[in-house]
Amino acid sequence: MTPVDPTLPYDDQNIFAKILRGEIPCTKVYEDEWAFAFLDINPQAPEHILVVPKGPYVSWDDFSLTASAEEIAGFIRAVGKIAREKGLVEPGYRAIANIGPNSGQLVPHLHVHICGGRPLGRMIP
Ligand code: IMP
Repeated sequence: MTPVDPTLPYDDQNIFAKILRGEIPCTKVYEDEWAFAFLDINPQAPEHILVVPKGPYVSWDDFSLTASAEEIAGFIRAVGKIAREKGLVEPGYRAIANIGPNSGQLVPHLHVHICGGRPLGRMIP
């Protein structure tokens, strides 16, 4: 996969769009009106969940610019709820979104990685 070009419009043939439409399989862990979550196919931690908004957003950039306040709140609440339901809050976890080429974002549909289940080390000194 090549890094996401953030100048391109949303491509509804991206792999997470296909997962959202049920066209390719995933291990689903959560769904509500605003968000859909499934296990990362190449986990980097004992718990590695991807949370995607249901709307067509390439990254956090267009999401934060154009999504409604209701959509943004619903999505962020879903990320927190999934982590709580998985019991990750007390030991702690990381929630990150890669945005654009410098981040290494590969899939052009906004996704938040929830990683936990082991000490993750500090990313930012
Ligand atoms: P990114 O680098 O932030 O775009 O992360 C993309 C993530 O999607 C990586 O962690 C991949 O392992 C994951 N991934 C790619 N294809 C699939 C899939 O079909 N199912 C689940 N996870 C996937």
